[in-house]
Amino acid sequence: MLEQIKIVLVGTSHSGNIGSAARAMKVMGLKQMVLVSPECEVDAQAIALAAGASDIALNALKVSNLEQAIDDCSLVVGTSARSRTLSWPMLDPRECGELFAVESEQSQVALVFGRERTGLTNEELQKCDYHVAIPANPEYSSLNLAMAVQTLCYELRVASLARKQSEYPLQENTEYPRHHELEMFYGHLEKVLCKTHFINEAQPSQVMNKLRRLFSRARPETQELNILRGILTSVEKLSSPDK
Ligand code: SAH
Repeated sequence: MLEQIKIVLVGTSHSGNIGSAARAMKVMGLKQMVLVSPECEVDAQAIALAAGASDIALNALKVSNLEQAIDDCSLVVGTSARSRTLSWPMLDPRECGELFAVESEQSQVALVFGRERTGLTNEELQKCDYHVAIPANPEYSSLNLAMAVQTLCYELRVASLARKQSEYPLQENTEYPRHHELEMFYGHLEKVLCKTHFINEAQPSQVMNKLRRLFSRARPETQELNILRGILTSVEKLSSPDK
């Protein structure tokens, strides 16, 4: 299960943090590190701080944007020290561990970490299904990146061990769409809402962001998303009956 979890580091600028994060992952049994547009190399300092976990840092997949990192994931959780203006479905670290333990049995899932100085952008956070914050001192809530990785990977491990030891039969898992399927749905929705003039083609983002938040809260299952796509197609047919 832990092997299906991707730890995604966005725009990391200190190579030592990549090494320390690799170590934090390996001690908790995680393997998949993805680096999104890193601003440093996996250099000697990264290797030194990784200690025996340099394999994780050296094998990390490098991609140029967050989309590419999470495309095949059915669950994406973004981490943030601050509660943003943007209110999004929130998890505490324990709930996050429990959710990952269940969903990683079935598909790839991702936990996304931000830049050392500026964290994740609102746009990146809006691509996540949930946000998780480590409940730190409200007056000094920002952990070092690798320490945040350590804290959350610990919760993932504890929850995964508890799930394995559970006497109860595993409940049947619900199938959720992959991230790229959700993005296709948002694209389709935007296209139809522009066609019906519900939103202005030049200025779709406010309404679309609100709708993204709504669907993140609801978390449609694969079947439900297919129904929504079907509804959009039926509206399209109605507005252009010749097709
Ligand atoms: N000033 C930045 C802090 C970045 S710290 C901000 O306000 O977002 C670097 C990264 O470590 C964050 O993007 C997040 O991924 C993680 N992190 C740090 N403190 C955290 C906390 N309390 N809860 C969850 N993640 C945290």
